Amino acid sequence: MSGAEPGPARVEIYDTTLRDGAQQVGLDLTVEDKLRIAAALDALGVDVVEGGWPGSNPKDKEFFARAGELPWRHAALAAFGATRRPGRSADGDPDLAVLLAAGTPVVTLVGKAWTLHVDEALRTTREENLAMVADSVRFFAREGRRVVFDAEHFFDGYAADPGYALAVLAAAAEAGADTLALCDTNGGTLPDDIVRVVRDVTARFGQLRIGVHCHNDSACAVANSLVAVGEGVRHVQGAANGYGERCGNADLFAVIAGLELKRGHELLPPGRLAELSSVAKLVAEVANLPFEARQPYVGSSAFATKAGLHASAIARRPDAYSHVDPAAVGNQAAVLVSELAGRSNVLARAAELGIELDPALASEVLDEVKAAEHRGYAFEAADASFELLVRRVAARRRPAGTGPDPSPTWFELEGYRVVIERSEGPSGPTDRSEAIVRLLLRDQRVVAVGEGVGPVHALDQALRRALEDLYPELASIRLVDYKVRILDGRAATSAVTRVMLTSADSAGEWTTVGVSDDIVTASWEALADGISYGLLRAGARALVPAAT
Ligand SMILES: [Zn+2]
Repeated sequence: MSGAEPGPARVEIYDTTLRDGAQQVGLDLTVEDKLRIAAALDALGVDVVEGGWPGSNPKDKEFFARAGELPWRHAALAAFGATRRPGRSADGDPDLAVLLAAGTPVVTLVGKAWTLHVDEALRTTREENLAMVADSVRFFAREGRRVVFDAEHFFDGYAADPGYALAVLAAAAEAGADTLALCDTNGGTLPDDIVRVVRDVTARFGQLRIGVHCHNDSACAVANSLVAVGEGVRHVQGAANGYGERCGNADLFAVIAGLELKRGHELLPPGRLAELSSVAKLVAEVANLPFEARQPYVGSSAFATKAGLHASAIARRPDAYSHVDPAAVGNQAAVLVSELAGRSNVLARAAELGIELDPALASEVLDEVKAAEHRGYAFEAADASFELLVRRVAARRRPAGTGPDPSPTWFELEGYRVVIERSEGPSGPTDRSEAIVRLLLRDQRVVAVGEGVGPVHALDQALRRALEDLYPELASIRLVDYKVRILDGRAATSAVTRVMLTSADSAGEWTTVGVSDDIVTASWEALADGISYGLLRAGARALVPAAT
């Protein structure tokens, strides 16, 4: 080893969770969800975040309109669209105009590279397809946009007619594309074929950045991405947690970890790789999908050995039983979850929130977190619930009469009742719920009624009505998202419901979590925490603690 050799050239990480990943069955992202995921990926340090297809639906259009609200620190935003229509000019194509109007620094254009699709799907001539590619790329390059050209079905196209597939790339390259991304759109290509084809492309187009976009239909999406990088590819497209239609896209987290830990590439800013596991969980929670315990690198079982089996040996030589150090990706060997590791995690998170914990207090918080997670709570995305939990524990151990109460109380619940009503009418059924909330505010008992389209809406209305006189700050707090997930029934108990609720004020958003066998109880918990946290942020004066 000379030590003077230059490191491997930089590989760009291009995330398509919000567009291709969102094609997954059962994955439905709101604009809020997309903004949260984009912010998390940007904070992680991916290079490009593809926001969606602005010409295809109003949701994506709104996303691009609001993307400027995010504090982008690292990533460039890309908008996705297709090449111009056959028989038109690029200037007169309304879809290209919408794509341009999204105003992103990167424009990703997908074009046909397989003759079968040109003939049968596009139903135009092969010459016209080449012109469509060239005209569309030139249109955006002239506007000063960086153009990533996604060569759709490239590997199948190359197998059928290599000359034509390469001519499509040449058309994009000559027109000013910055990156040529070779897409394995059907996901059936195996690694040795990827190597052979990529080798040919990099030999011909070595002056450009070559990328790959792999799907997992033969369980090779990550492997194909890795071997492509070995052949000189410097741009990898994929999705968080491998989301995507059919069998998914390449799992970006496994690609990043593999290239950083095993091939010496520097992809993320220094120190960010250790965030990988928590970002993976956060995206799953926002996407409202179960987090796969067996997911490589980041899953909770990724480094778990059956308890007791090799525990003492693992403790002696952890490197003998895992392919990488779990801490490198922010994960841990389940069998070794030490008090110390968990506690330092809690301390770090609390410090981020500006709360100082002594080690004993951190242990107590850790115990509560573990117990709560066992009951079905998830705190990766529920920042506000985590903070309230830390504050409650801190308040419990606070010597009487010292400093401000870390866990103030704004209201105490005496009880609530919810009535759900459905009535069949001539124009279809109508659903209406009514909630009655009884609170204790200082020495006063307050009863308020709320109506809504569902029980949670009604409870929210009643709670607000009960509190509005005392806390005018409530007027600026609104509910922006509500997610319900039924968790698997544990042992003999029934299934558990987890509710994640996101609230906002003019300065930002926060998320709370509630868990119960009953959906209304879980919702109330998330709601009450969401309102309390909002009042805490607003600096509302808390109730005077009851005299003891
Ligand atoms: Zn795709």
